[in-house]
Amino acid sequence: QFEKSELLKTLPKQFFASLVAKVNSIQAQGHDVINLGQGNPDQPTPEHIVKSLQIAAEKPLNHKYSPFRGHQYLKEAACAYYEREHGVVLDPNTEVAILFGGKAGLVELPQCLLNPGDTVLVPDPGYPDYLSGVALAQVKTAFMPLLEENDFLPDYTRLDREVVQQAKMMFLNYPNNPTGASATAEFFEQTVVFAKEHSMCVVHDFAYGAIGFDGEKPRSFLQTEGAKDIGIEVYTLSKTYNMAGWRVGFAVGNKSVIQALELLQDHLYVSLFPAIQEAAATALLESQDCVRELVATYEGRRRVFIDGLRSIGWNVTAPKASFFAWLKVPEGFTSESFADYLLNEAYVAVAPGNGFGQFGEGYVRVGLLTSEERLQEAVKRIEALKLFT
Ligand code: PLP
Repeated sequence: QFEKSELLKTLPKQFFASLVAKVNSIQAQGHDVINLGQGNPDQPTPEHIVKSLQIAAEKPLNHKYSPFRGHQYLKEAACAYYEREHGVVLDPNTEVAILFGGKAGLVELPQCLLNPGDTVLVPDPGYPDYLSGVALAQVKTAFMPLLEENDFLPDYTRLDREVVQQAKMMFLNYPNNPTGASATAEFFEQTVVFAKEHSMCVVHDFAYGAIGFDGEKPRSFLQTEGAKDIGIEVYTLSKTYNMAGWRVGFAVGNKSVIQALELLQDHLYVSLFPAIQEAAATALLESQDCVRELVATYEGRRRVFIDGLRSIGWNVTAPKASFFAWLKVPEGFTSESFADYLLNEAYVAVAPGNGFGQFGEGYVRVGLLTSEERLQEAVKRIEALKLFT
C-alpha cells in the first residue's frame, strides 16, 4: 500500500459521491427514485453530431496523434461560434485553447497563473470543482457570497479589502450553477473595472451559455469592453449539445492566459481524439435548431415544475437560465435534512445547497433533467407530504 501524497490529501471530498450512495441505497431497496440531484443532461447528443463522429472515426488520419494543441479547424469553429452567437471576434491562433471539457480547464487555470499562497476569489454557493483546482495549485480561497437579495451576483464593495488586495484570480459562473441566476451587462462591466483595479484574472465559466429563458440569451463575459484584457471564458459542449460524455470544450480570451494553459496542457496531454474534434466542429458550425429545441425543452420543464410547486403552496423562484432550480427549503429544515426527507419519504433526490458552500445552506438544487411527466410526478409526491398546507 502506498500513501497518498500530501497534495492529494488536501483535495476536497467529491461532493456528489455521498448523494449517489444515498440514491443507490434507496434504489437498492426497490424504490423508484426520481433523481433530480445531479447535473447530467438526460437527452442524447443530436444525431447529426453523432453521425459526424462516426464518419470521422473511419478516417485513418484521425487515428494518429492530434497536434498537441488540437486541430486548427476546431479552434476556427470555436471562433465562428463566438462571433455568430455573441458578436465576439477571436483570433484562432492566440485566443483559443482546446480543453478536455470545461472541468479540465477550470482545474488547470489556477496552476497556470498562481503561486502557492496566492488568493483566489470563489463564488459561494458555487460549482464545487473550482476548489479542486485551487487545492492542486496550493492557493488560498476567499469566498464571495452570492445572495438572493443581490440576484446571486457578488457585491464587490462588500468584500474584505485586504483579501481583495491579495487576490490574483476570480471565478465567476453565469448562467449560474447552482442558483440559475444570470448576469447583467452592468455587472460584467463592474467586474472588468474591479479586476483591472486589482490586477486580477477573471475566469468566467460559461458552461450554461446557451441556456437562457424568456427569450433572454445569456451574455458572454467577453462581450464586455476590456474583458479580454483581464479575462478568460471557459466554454463546454457538454450542456449545449448534450455531449457531457464526450469531454470537449475550449477556453477563449486573454492571450497570455491561453499561452499558459496551452503550455501546461503540452505537458499533460496530446489533445483530444481527432474524430471528436471534427464532430465538435460540426456541432458548433452546423444548424443550431437542436439548441433551440433543447432550450424549449428545459423551458417547458421549468414551467411544469415551478408552476406545479407553486400550485401546492411552495413559494419558489423560477430560474432565469441554466437547467437548475434553486429552492428555499421549508421552515424547520436544513438543506441536508430536507434533501434526506425528500429522498426517504418521496423518493425524490435533490442536491442539498450546503454542498455548494456555506451560503447554499437553506436551499436545495433541482436539476430539470427528466421528462415533464416525471417532474409532474415529483410534484405529486411532494404534495403528498403535505408540507405546505
Ligand atoms: N462548470 C459548471 C458550472 C458545471 O456545472 C459543469 C458541469 O456540470 C462544468 C463546468 C463542467 O462541465 P464539463 O467538464 O462537462 O465541460
